[in-house]
Amino acid sequence: MLNLHTTCTGANLSPVFFVQKSIPETHCPKLLSLPFMKLRHYTIPVFIPEEACPNQCVFCNQHRIAGAECAPSVEEVIVKVNALLLTIPEGSEVEIGFFGGNFTGIPVGEQKAYLESVQQYIQSGRVQGIRLSTRPDYINKEILDFLKRYKVTSIELGAQSLDDEVLKLAGRGHTAAQVQEAAKMIKENGFKLGLQMMIGLPGDTAEKSLFTAKEIIRLGADCTRIYPTLVIKSTELEHLYHEGKYQPLSLEEAISRVADLVPLFIEADVKILRIGLHPSEGLLDRSSLVAGPFEVAFGEMVFSEIWKRIFSTMIFQNGKRNLLTLTIASGMRNPAIGYKALNKTMLLESFRKVVFAESDELKGFEFHADTV
Ligand code: SF4
Repeated sequence: MLNLHTTCTGANLSPVFFVQKSIPETHCPKLLSLPFMKLRHYTIPVFIPEEACPNQCVFCNQHRIAGAECAPSVEEVIVKVNALLLTIPEGSEVEIGFFGGNFTGIPVGEQKAYLESVQQYIQSGRVQGIRLSTRPDYINKEILDFLKRYKVTSIELGAQSLDDEVLKLAGRGHTAAQVQEAAKMIKENGFKLGLQMMIGLPGDTAEKSLFTAKEIIRLGADCTRIYPTLVIKSTELEHLYHEGKYQPLSLEEAISRVADLVPLFIEADVKILRIGLHPSEGLLDRSSLVAGPFEVAFGEMVFSEIWKRIFSTMIFQNGKRNLLTLTIASGMRNPAIGYKALNKTMLLESFRKVVFAESDELKGFEFHADTV
């Protein structure tokens, strides 16, 4: 069932719905959960699978295994939150995140019980916020008023696309207008807004992904998550794939498409909380994966690609210069050097020595280059 930190992508198949670790986020204001950043912000994830999702998104297998998983009890939530708080340094920013299927789609009594169970942490000041993920068509004024009463601070919507044809082909069961309306209401009611997107859905194109990213920015999202579409076992997409009616993006295409989007989000100050699916057991051993661009290091590969594009303008053909010193933003050293040091290797074709330094004065993809 859903144990990934997203709304209803349905692509994680591990039976574990309650992850034991808090998710460390980063000091960087724009890139919150990439592994190469320093730590400061933590999200304690609580996974609430929607046991009887009425939808049949083509990429999700949840409807086929509905009822096979149980949501955690309130007591389990408390035990786990207590245990995880012990591992988080005092003074850190901490949120409790109710992720999984569709939080506002579960019975109100259950929502209330979960939210009440974590009020103690808000009141004590140990936890500063509650976030949750849900579907765009499960947001209205009454729901928002209810969430506000329980100190929910951030709401993430599984938008997936802002193109109606893509949404229809994906079987999402909601329209782009519903995403827009829900996003507007969330912002107007003082919540932080997250809008998650997928690339490579049926009918999606590079242009449509770009449009979706621009819409997410226009709608005032504070954060986003970007997921490449995978063909997971026991999904409608698997049938389409075997019938030759759906072809997933190659890894290279997926990296390239996401590399087109990331700078837009960074430029617009939209935090990127996640790129690529969390590697569930079924993805790691490929037992759940039929096809598609899955890589554990997908996010790292995307950042590496962006730096490669930037640095490739510095390659020249005639002879080698001596030394290139590249100063980049703090936290960007590893992606600048590149996945498997590919960018450094590329630069070494034109320079005898390449040195990478970091500076807190630089942001995003800004850099200084000094050559000798
Ligand atoms: S809404 Fe779609 S993605 Fe979410 S659980 Fe239901 S079928 Fe899966």
